[in-house]
Amino acid sequence: MRLFFALWPDPGTRKAWHDGLAPYVMPLGGRRVPADNLHLTLAFLGELPGSRINALLALGDDLPHDPVILRFDRVESWKKQGLACLRPTDTPAALVRLVERLHAGLVLAGFPVEARHFKPHVTLSRQIVIPSESLPVWPVVEWRVPALALVRSELTPDGSVYHVVGEWPL
Ligand code: ATP
Ligand code: MG
Repeated sequence: MRLFFALWPDPGTRKAWHDGLAPYVMPLGGRRVPADNLHLTLAFLGELPGSRINALLALGDDLPHDPVILRFDRVESWKKQGLACLRPTDTPAALVRLVERLHAGLVLAGFPVEARHFKPHVTLSRQIVIPSESLPVWPVVEWRVPALALVRSELTPDGSVYHVVGEWPL
C-alpha cells in the first residue's frame, strides 16, 4: 500500500482553504486538489507491505507531539513540478524538530526516505498552465496543526482517496 506521513487539517479547515484560496489558484489553470485531499506531506514512503504499518505506528508514538502553528503567507508556483502550493515563509522550530525525528526514525527502521530538503507546502493545484512567481496571500492563513497522521493513498480512476491509518494530536 501507498503510505505517507502528513500534517492533517480538519474538514472545516480544508474547505476554508479550498474556497478561500480559489482566487489565487484559479488564474493559474490546472487541476485543483479537491478539498478532501488538502494536506501537508512530511514524508512520502511509497509502496510498502501492510505488515510495515505497526512499525510506522510505533514510530508515530515515539515522535515529539509539540504544538505547531504555521503562517501561510504566499502561493508559489513550482515550474518543474507544475504545481501551485500554499507556503509559509518561516518553518517553525517545532516542525523542523518533528521532521528531523521522523526522518531519523524512518532511516533507523529501514524505510526509504527522500534526500531532498524538506520544504513545507500544501499542494493546491497540479498541471498549472500559467505559473506565477509568488503571490502574497492576504490575510495570512494561520494554521494551528491539529494532528500528525499516517495516511494510506488509494489510487482510483477518480483520483487519489486518502485514508487515515494513524493519528497523533499535536
Ligand atoms: P495524484 O498522484 O493522484 O495526483 P497525490 O499526489 O495527492 O494524488 P499520492 O501520489 O499518493 O497522491 O501522494 C501522496 C502525497 O505524497 C502527496 O502529498 C504527494 O505530493 C506526495 N508524494 C507523492 N509522490 C511523492 C514523491 N515521489 N516524493 C515526495 N512526495 C511525494
Ligand atoms: Mg502523486
